[in-house]
Amino acid sequence: MRWKENAIKTLRQAPKDEESVNSKFLTQAGFINKLGAGIYTFLPLGLSVLKKIENIVCEEMNRAGGVELLMPGLHPSENWQKTGRWDSFDALMKTKSAFGGEYALGPTHEEIIYPLMGHFISSYKDLPVALYQIQTKFRDEKRAKSGLMRCREFRMKDLYSFHTTTEDRDRYYESIRKAYLKIFKRLGLKVIETKASGGTFSELSQEFQVITGAGEDTIYYCKKCGNGINKEVYSGKEKCLICGGVLEEGQAVEVGNIFPLKKKFAEDFNLKFKDKDGESKLVEAGCYGLGTSRVMGTIVEVFNDERGIIWPESVAPFQVHLVELGKKKGEVAYKKMFAVGVEGLYDDRDASAGEKFADADLIGIPYRAVVSEKTGSKIELKERSSKTGKLMKIEEVIRKVNGNSR
Ligand code: ATP
Ligand code: MG
Repeated sequence: MRWKENAIKTLRQAPKDEESVNSKFLTQAGFINKLGAGIYTFLPLGLSVLKKIENIVCEEMNRAGGVELLMPGLHPSENWQKTGRWDSFDALMKTKSAFGGEYALGPTHEEIIYPLMGHFISSYKDLPVALYQIQTKFRDEKRAKSGLMRCREFRMKDLYSFHTTTEDRDRYYESIRKAYLKIFKRLGLKVIETKASGGTFSELSQEFQVITGAGEDTIYYCKKCGNGINKEVYSGKEKCLICGGVLEEGQAVEVGNIFPLKKKFAEDFNLKFKDKDGESKLVEAGCYGLGTSRVMGTIVEVFNDERGIIWPESVAPFQVHLVELGKKKGEVAYKKMFAVGVEGLYDDRDASAGEKFADADLIGIPYRAVVSEKTGSKIELKERSSKTGKLMKIEEVIRKVNGNSR
């Protein structure tokens, strides 16, 4: 893609009204644009990253037996009245139709998926089943000031699984826990599996936390076994409850949260199945959330330097940033790369070397390829994370870049 085709507009300086590293860099580099507190447009570069993150999440959810659907974001108030959460869910955004009826803007989807499953589940033969979506969620967050980390409108993957027994639910829970570990590994994030507030070590229910100063949670985590516990629930012991190791305290952000759902929603919506003996029983369920847009912010918080973002290859908007200095020297290299499917951003602007290099560092594509009078028929390839580049032939560049991105 050529620079102009991508509608990229980088800013000379970070916006003054943004406080967090992720919102500063993402805005300055042209990935997102702020509309209001906690409300952002994903510009073409940003959407490309978000889609890569969401594709990885989808792949692993499908592998774990999840089936994708898409539920509405507009929820009739009756559904929320039924669970009592119309009044008790603090961050619920409410709106009225001019033609009658009140609605919630969906912050989570138990109120929708339970009655929906009533149409599909009647017998034990219909179970287990697991459905997920990736969708825009709404929450009336009090403090929406950390860029993509805490938004009023954000993206979430939510999976719901339904089972005949708690044993089957726990078996599935374990497979999703493993799928989450795979997802975060592919995203380049080191996660600490943390017991959530209210949870104990014996109970299933956990958060996936990433250590970063930008996180709002304080956790204790064990350097030995890697497990953690949210400070909110931990009463003073200094040792890890799993291995006895020494606990460290750190700031972290919750990127995912998985837990079994109590019988409450099944009761509220009378979601039952007939077992083998014809007895009617309440359906067991689990719920598994992962904030895909928060993940994008978290990646930027973790992978950056003073010059800009350093994207992991798996989610970078492009693999190579082709920088042309001087006359149209990049055209041949660009066409060759494009022909073999390398994802390249071609900076063919009429701008100075300094400006182009600064933008390449700011945007953070894993490889920078420079073509100039000085490089002759070769290309100077440099990793974003390293200081020096190397001269090589275009074929070598393609091999290196393709090899690493697979
Ligand atoms: P937090 O404690 O950070 O407010 P939560 O426990 O309310 O999060 P869940 O209801 O578990 O969040 O939602 C699932 C996932 O959605 C979270 O793990 C997080 O990654 C993401 N998420 C939740 N709230 C927001 C938000 N306001 N902005 C961006 N992502 C969010
Ligand atoms: Mg949570």
